[in-house]
Amino acid sequence: MEKGGLVYDEESTTVYGLSGNSMAIRKEETHMRLGSSTYWWRDESLTPRHIEQMAREGIAVLEISDYHPNFNYLKVQWLREIHQAVQENGLEVATVHTHLRWYDPALHLAHPDPIRYRRAVEAYLRAVDALVLLGHPLLLTHDLDLAGTDGVEDPKARERTVEALREIAAYCQSAGIRMVVENMPRGWATSVSRLCGVVQEVNHPALGVCIDTAHAYRGDDVNQALRIAASLVTTLHINDADAREEHLLPGKGAIPWRTIMQQLQEIAYTGDFIYELGDPAALPSLRANFHWLQHLTSANDKQ
Ligand SMILES: [Zn+2]
Repeated sequence: MEKGGLVYDEESTTVYGLSGNSMAIRKEETHMRLGSSTYWWRDESLTPRHIEQMAREGIAVLEISDYHPNFNYLKVQWLREIHQAVQENGLEVATVHTHLRWYDPALHLAHPDPIRYRRAVEAYLRAVDALVLLGHPLLLTHDLDLAGTDGVEDPKARERTVEALREIAAYCQSAGIRMVVENMPRGWATSVSRLCGVVQEVNHPALGVCIDTAHAYRGDDVNQALRIAASLVTTLHINDADAREEHLLPGKGAIPWRTIMQQLQEIAYTGDFIYELGDPAALPSLRANFHWLQHLTSANDKQ
């Protein structure tokens, strides 16, 4: 499979063809916006107070997680109020992290029952409608799973998922929204080359990829994940991981951040830099951490 001058080997997830000019490190400063997910407040109702707190700490864009107990894709007034609070604080909603299979495991885009399959697709379409009210953020999901009961990829599940993503991407495009699918720390979506293979098969401009650094650390390796997904990476989930934990502040785990930041320069990533951390106590540290990461690629910095 070939995309953007790269040749992928799906079996081994090895990337070939990255040489010469494509490896040149761009020296200019990147212009990624500092973002944070509301994931760390997932057990609380999301209120304008949370948004004000983010703004005070210099966050430019936010990801809203739909885990909040008061989040509801059908509550138009609430969605409008949150969007108003976001705007009043000079922010933007960059992403909404949907977890539709967490709400209902049957909302599966590979569901073999045609009625349940249809219900799943339409749940995503309703989510798109809700996102319009939040200012057209990216619709982010990590719910892709093409594995059959034996754990091996099921060709029929792939067919249904590709068809579903094509329909949702087309709907997104007409609503002025894009959709991204995220790599996972385990299961079918651990392999970034598999995930990218499906996105390339769908081949729609409104569909891209989110690379979660901690998930990639558990899976393919972060640098390799970024290289494989290069032309498709639309947004990032930034968090560190060690042998036990994820959702840590970069520098607190085992991920080699200097090489990650170099890799982002190499693939000319210009999207947002969305922290997805587990503990809101890290909020006052995000701006300094972002600055530290951005300057790690300077020759004299030590990680
Ligand atoms: Zn994530």
